[in-house]
Amino acid sequence: MGDAELRGLMAEMGEPAYRSKQLMEAVYRQRVESLAEISTLPLALREMLEKSGVSVGAPRIDNKFVSSDGTVRYLIAFADGQTVETVWMPEGDGGEAGDGSEAGVEAQIPGEGAQRAPGRAAIGRSTICISSQVGCAVDCRFCLTALLGVKRNLTAGEIVGQVCAVLKDQHVSPPEDRINLVFMGMGEPFLNYDNFIKASRLLVECVGIAERRMTVSTAGIVPRIHDFAKERVRPKLAISLNASNDALRTRLMPVNKKWNLEMLVDAARDFPLRTREWITFEYVLLGEVNDEPANAKEVVELLRGLRCKVNLIALNPGPDIDFATPTDERVARFQKILRDGGIPAFIRRPRGRDIYAACGQLKRTVEIANLPEPRLQLISPPSDR
Ligand code: SAH
Repeated sequence: MGDAELRGLMAEMGEPAYRSKQLMEAVYRQRVESLAEISTLPLALREMLEKSGVSVGAPRIDNKFVSSDGTVRYLIAFADGQTVETVWMPEGDGGEAGDGSEAGVEAQIPGEGAQRAPGRAAIGRSTICISSQVGCAVDCRFCLTALLGVKRNLTAGEIVGQVCAVLKDQHVSPPEDRINLVFMGMGEPFLNYDNFIKASRLLVECVGIAERRMTVSTAGIVPRIHDFAKERVRPKLAISLNASNDALRTRLMPVNKKWNLEMLVDAARDFPLRTREWITFEYVLLGEVNDEPANAKEVVELLRGLRCKVNLIALNPGPDIDFATPTDERVARFQKILRDGGIPAFIRRPRGRDIYAACGQLKRTVEIANLPEPRLQLISPPSDR
């Protein structure tokens, strides 16, 4: 339930508007688990809310996998039993951190790093990667989530609920702790647009995540990029490019048949950027498929003149994914051509690959119970590092 709906409900019950604020505060900041815990609300009101079907609390954490690099993959369950995955990436490395958030932009935001409870220092920058749908309908050939198909959209409350569940489990709180948020988990946020927007507002206004610490990534749902440009509160924009020409992109991402590269790049050119903001393009490198020097040169031409940067992601492998991870040399060569062509390009360090938490590896754990070896390594110490 959003702020406006809650105010409406309170008005219906003859309650003053500040009651809704008290409830939001309890749910999103104190992260209470039941109405009974909200002692700021009179008992009669709590009973009335309960009777009208209002329940509070974060979704349940069903399972938790910890990677040797500190990344945690959560399996989060909602009331109807559907699950999604949410990833916690602690302490970015200050460079291109592998978490999808901006590299090297570490300006302090007012309120961040403020005094915490005695005995506990504020954490460095960490990132939560959240899902927007159960499964995904976009069908990118290199992504594990695509194999699920889409089961349903998440509600705004379920999107925000993932963040609350993780914050609570990690014992951190924005804005005192620096938390970045990326809508880069399961699903295509721009195919669940209204709920995604509603969730962004709740995250800023109620949870306390700074607008400029959030980034949404889209596979290229062009009409929604135009809508997004007009939003009052919005995360930064990232676009999954992944190919340098239409033939190749259509092969890797069938969505390109509907909205081709010209439409996509035009939308990016029209996108109104705020001060010190740029668009991020993600490019998954698939060995000997889209990682040739000729591809890099095409990308330079395609993006010329755009205020943007490119995040290069070497393929994270998975079962049923018929592509190869390129060698480091090929990745470095690709990056150099972009940089020589005037495009800032960064290599995104894979996070949590050993627990299938990295980009393109999210798939409901229950459905990958038969994953090969890597998943098991999480219990033993890293062997060769
Ligand atoms: N649906 C949105 C949000 C997901 S973001 C989107 O497509 O942008 C996930 C990022 O991981 C995307 O940039 C995607 O291209 C990338 N990705 C998908 N599968 C991958 C894989 N197997 N290895 C590396 N990156 C992958």
